[in-house]
Amino acid sequence: MTLRRPWAHRIAVGTVSAAALVALAVPAEAATPATATSTSTSTAAAEDVDYGTWQQDCQAVMNQALPYLKQRIAGTKPGEKQAIVFDIDNTTLETDFGFSYPQPANRPVLEVAKYAQEHGVSLFFVTARPGIIASVTDYNLKHVGYQVSGLYVRNFLDLFKNVAEYKTAQRVAIENKGYTIIANVGNSATDLSGGHAEKTYKLPDYDGQLS
Ligand SMILES: [Mg+2]
Repeated sequence: MTLRRPWAHRIAVGTVSAAALVALAVPAEAATPATATSTSTSTAAAEDVDYGTWQQDCQAVMNQALPYLKQRIAGTKPGEKQAIVFDIDNTTLETDFGFSYPQPANRPVLEVAKYAQEHGVSLFFVTARPGIIASVTDYNLKHVGYQVSGLYVRNFLDLFKNVAEYKTAQRVAIENKGYTIIANVGNSATDLSGGHAEKTYKLPDYDGQLS
C-alpha cells in the first residue's frame, strides 16, 4: 500500500467533498431526487489510495463477514429482530473515489448488505454527515440498492459531540427499538468502538486517510 499524497492534500480533498455535498443538498431539498444529475467535482482523492487495492481490502473483510452473517441469520431466535449497522462514507458508498453524485455503492459491502436484507435483516445507517444532507444521503443509499430501515445523521447539537459517542448512542437507540445488532460495519475506529453490536467489521481507512 503506497500512499502518494501528504496529509495536507487529503484534508483539502475532504473539505471539497463535504462542501460539494452540502451544495448538492439544496437542489435535492427543493426538487425530487429523480432530477439529480451526476456531477463530478474531484477525482483527486482516487490518487491517494489505489482503487483496486481498496476494493481488494474491502472484499477481504466482507469475506470474513458473510459466513458469520449466514450462520447468525440462519440461527435467528423466535421473535428476534436482527439489524446491521453501517457507516456510510467509504463503507457503504465510494465516497473518496472519483467523487460524484449519486455516489456508487462500495460493491463488496453492498453484496453482503443485499444478502442480509433479502433474509429479513434491517439495515441501519449511522453517519457523521450533518442533517442538512440527510435527504440526498437517503436517496443515494436507496438508489444504489440498500434498503434503509433507518438513517441517523448528526443534528446541530450532535455536531459538538465526540463521533464515537454519538455513533454508540445511535446503536443504543436502535437496540431500544427492539433490534439485535448482529454486526456493525465501518471503516473508522470511531464507527466501531463503544460496543452494542455482536460483531464488528473494520474496513480500511489507511491511517485515517479515508473518512
Ligand atoms: Mg467512513
